[in-house]
Amino acid sequence: MTPAVFEPATPLAPPAGRTTNDLIRQQNLSSVLSLVHSRGALSRAQLGATTGLNRSTVTGLVMELTELGLVREAPGGERTGKVGRPTLDIEPEDHVAALSVRAEPLAVTVALVGLGGVVHARLRHDTAGAPSPKRFVQIVSSSVEAMRADIDRHYRVVGAGLAVPGLVNANGSVLVSPTLGWKRDPVSARLSDELGMPVAAGNDASIGALAESRFGVGVGVGNLLYLGGAMHSIGGGLIIDGTLLRGTSGYAGELGHTVVDPRGRACVCGRRGCLEAEVSLDILEPLLGRRKLDEDELDVELGVARSPRVLAEVTRQVELLSVALTNFVNAFAPETVVLSGYLGCLLSVSRERLADAVRVHPLGAEGRTIRLERAHLRSRLMLVGPAELAFADLLSNPAGFRG
Ligand SMILES: [Zn+2]
Repeated sequence: MTPAVFEPATPLAPPAGRTTNDLIRQQNLSSVLSLVHSRGALSRAQLGATTGLNRSTVTGLVMELTELGLVREAPGGERTGKVGRPTLDIEPEDHVAALSVRAEPLAVTVALVGLGGVVHARLRHDTAGAPSPKRFVQIVSSSVEAMRADIDRHYRVVGAGLAVPGLVNANGSVLVSPTLGWKRDPVSARLSDELGMPVAAGNDASIGALAESRFGVGVGVGNLLYLGGAMHSIGGGLIIDGTLLRGTSGYAGELGHTVVDPRGRACVCGRRGCLEAEVSLDILEPLLGRRKLDEDELDVELGVARSPRVLAEVTRQVELLSVALTNFVNAFAPETVVLSGYLGCLLSVSRERLADAVRVHPLGAEGRTIRLERAHLRSRLMLVGPAELAFADLLSNPAGFRG
């Protein structure tokens, strides 16, 4: 299996003033810190076996990361012999943290997430409607102020990451977010000015794919198709050969706007019959007689639903989702397909039909086995995910971090 790697490849020639040895050391520090960040506590022997580095190199790297305050030693599970002392594992220093911010039409969530994906705190601010970018920045700022005393006393915050349901370019500007009503807004620059720290923004589904590949069902999976991201819209995230597919200006993965019924419902994008318009909790909620259901509540509702209208609508949506999944699987040849949010709920009640949809036989050849999984991180997904954007620079160059 190809390990998921998102950092840019090391350039062949070192920049002025840096030697090849400097670059190799940076890459090794990055490998060790990234491993304990995504896998949790590991012994020096496990670090050596996974990275291919020898014992003394691993010891030196761990010492440097400890001095930087990025990892610490903790009693491990292994023993040096039958009656030997317990070995010491290396684990991430979770007081090194990032702010994780999520913008949704009816809520703004801010969380404090430590290295290793530990959620230390979260604050959810419900809104009556989608906030303007300016109002959104105010809400985030007041949420951070509410955490300020705790942050200043206990944590070293490296920056903030922001998840937006919409198109976000590499500079963190939102091109368009139909569900938030935002257009051409430099939202991460606004937030960075307000918070006084770097802010990296990305599309929520791409962030979901990243988080599942680091901490969830996609660990060690080189080719992963992720679909879902939110309860009321559908986005896609693709990891191809271990790298998040970005496409022109970072806009790849808008799989929710794949047309599954050309004569279907009008979509926010201006077309008809997009997957997002047809496979939607917004259609199902009135039939259930409920509103604003979260993932856990919907699981319960669907588990006990007996109404013929509800069951017929679920079947209709699952059929259209199946059509889309078969097309995606043929186009991208993933090893694993991950469904999250609303689509994860549909998977739990229609596993057989959806599993059949991803059982493809390319050109009549023998079928491949493709894992179909519900996202594992569930309610943690969009807390842990945005923080990954903020940790990216630290993970790729740990020695550059002198907090
Ligand atoms: Zn559309």
